[in-house]
Amino acid sequence: MTANKHQFKAEVNKILDLMIHSLYSHKEIFLRELISNASDAIDKARYMALTDKTVAAGGEEWKIQLIADKASGTLTLRDNGIGLTRDEAVEALGTIAHSGTKEFMKLLESREVKDNPELIGQFGVGFYSAFMVADQVTVISRSATVDANHAVVWESDADGSYTLEDTVKETRGTDVILKLKEDCLSYLEEWELRKVVKQYSDFIEYPVVMDVTRSKPDPEDKEKSVSETVEETLNSRKAIWLKDKAEITEEEYNEFYKHISHDFTDPARVIHYRAEGTTEFSALLYLPSKRPFDIYYQDYKVGPTLYVRRVQIMDHCEAMLPSYLRFMKGVVESSDLPLNVSREILQDNKIVSVIKKSLTKKILDTLADLKKDDAEAYGNFYEQFGRILKEGIHHDFERRETIADLLLFESTKTEAGKKTTLAEYIERMPEDQKEIYYITGGDRASTESSPYLEVFKEKGIEVLIMTDDFDDIIISGLGAYKEKEFQSAIKGDLDLGEGNKEEKKKEFGDLLELMKEELKGLVGEVRISGRLKDSAVCLVAGEHDLDPKMAKMFQAMGQDVPKGERVLEVNPGHELIVRMKQLFAADSKSVQLKEYTGLLYDQALLLEGDKPRDPVAFARALSKLMASGASVG
Ligand code: ADP
Repeated sequence: MTANKHQFKAEVNKILDLMIHSLYSHKEIFLRELISNASDAIDKARYMALTDKTVAAGGEEWKIQLIADKASGTLTLRDNGIGLTRDEAVEALGTIAHSGTKEFMKLLESREVKDNPELIGQFGVGFYSAFMVADQVTVISRSATVDANHAVVWESDADGSYTLEDTVKETRGTDVILKLKEDCLSYLEEWELRKVVKQYSDFIEYPVVMDVTRSKPDPEDKEKSVSETVEETLNSRKAIWLKDKAEITEEEYNEFYKHISHDFTDPARVIHYRAEGTTEFSALLYLPSKRPFDIYYQDYKVGPTLYVRRVQIMDHCEAMLPSYLRFMKGVVESSDLPLNVSREILQDNKIVSVIKKSLTKKILDTLADLKKDDAEAYGNFYEQFGRILKEGIHHDFERRETIADLLLFESTKTEAGKKTTLAEYIERMPEDQKEIYYITGGDRASTESSPYLEVFKEKGIEVLIMTDDFDDIIISGLGAYKEKEFQSAIKGDLDLGEGNKEEKKKEFGDLLELMKEELKGLVGEVRISGRLKDSAVCLVAGEHDLDPKMAKMFQAMGQDVPKGERVLEVNPGHELIVRMKQLFAADSKSVQLKEYTGLLYDQALLLEGDKPRDPVAFARALSKLMASGASVG
């Protein structure tokens, strides 16, 4: 039968091109990637065998075989895993199937990946790394779902296409045959393979075996030696999470992390423990140092890999980890769960919820320790994952105080880029300060000059600067911290002991009434401000309303937002307001007063980061006003 030629997808060609022409360092990772794929394939077959007795009916041993053939210059990786059907081969070996294709293409073009080929692993394109060491790759595979006559041969020289042919294969599983490049023939040497397997794949659960030939003394004639070929296992195979902590080196921990996460940087922290008692399980969890590119994607996989009695049941058990800790990676093994658990069963399983509780506590404790012991490392963690952790305040009512302990914010008293905890803020609070002040809706630079902070600045009161878009919701949900309530600098009436507010209210009352009348439908109230010092006016939201930025965001998402009444606050100490009062006294019907009120309202919108209602009319009115004031001499 003639071979059936297929073209690679564009991104595959790009990656192949990069593999072949740009990546020179760490070529040996191809072996880790292919062993890892073989191991995944065996996991799947083993899982299938639990319910389908025809799989592995002969009781064969699960294993990954390396076959080095110096005569033909080929290295073969053979597994007895799940295998690939023809269609699966097209899908798995001809495309790049992940949601971050765009990011991936960007990354491919960057320098970073050229220096760190491991980066590629995180996108699930490990198979193609075979072309770093091989001119030609042949995959012969028989899926567990087909008979010997329906196996498939996939082959490519990385020239933009691959061929597919039907074939006959007696055993289930996959052979990946690498025709090694001239300068990569060392991967046929026993010592080299041994070294690479030990370094990258030692913890792989299945034996990685290889025939080795040794010479030994001839039993007949002690003077002579005979050679003998035996199959040797190159990896120690110990499930690292079941090992004793003392037996594991940092490197082993890190290598295993890279294996499960596809991350190329070492993790920031390792959590490894065994729970004993009514529910027994082992957990090995990692806190990554870097945020994965896809952590905000809808299809981001949450939860540790779940093993039950050494069998991998699922690669992400989301029922075991709250989503706000989804940055943690790792493995959990429980002997208490049945082997045939399904996702549905796990959702409301008692054992699972005990494990989830334990993991959550352990992770939050670890973060608290990290914060205490190493401010810089914690700062880095927060930079990467703080935004995700913060979701916990909203979703985990029971632990919101504990999570609040872990929050960091910039403040008007911290240096730019430096952050403070809520507890530290409270420590610095003067005795007469009752509330924790915060401002949302802008970045640090824009808050520095914000009219909303004028009085705080003058009085030297610290204000937390919250820059994440959902901070307002999080803080409203939290309500208070260590019994101190939160007060937004841009919401509600503020009274920082200005004292004469009542007096001013009386003094300016009539003017305020007129302004309110003029702004009917736009604001619910016009009042004397407790927050302004330099600016004439500002707009504030009601105590319990969303901050205006959030409200807009929700509206943009098509959600109904309760329309809170805005308040225009007026600074009685401002020259303009004083002049308006005088105008009012002279002629309470003055057209100018009405014009000024409108202009002030538009200004307040501007200060909030919004646009004037009618920018053209606003500019015209302003120019007219300037012209009337412009005089020479
Ligand atoms: P990843 O393993 O991260 O998904 P790869 O490029 O390494 O990415 O592999 C692509 C896909 O090819 C795998 O998801 C799997 O479906 C299939 N595959 C690769 N190697 C094997 C194998 N030895 N046995 C069965 N399927 C395999």
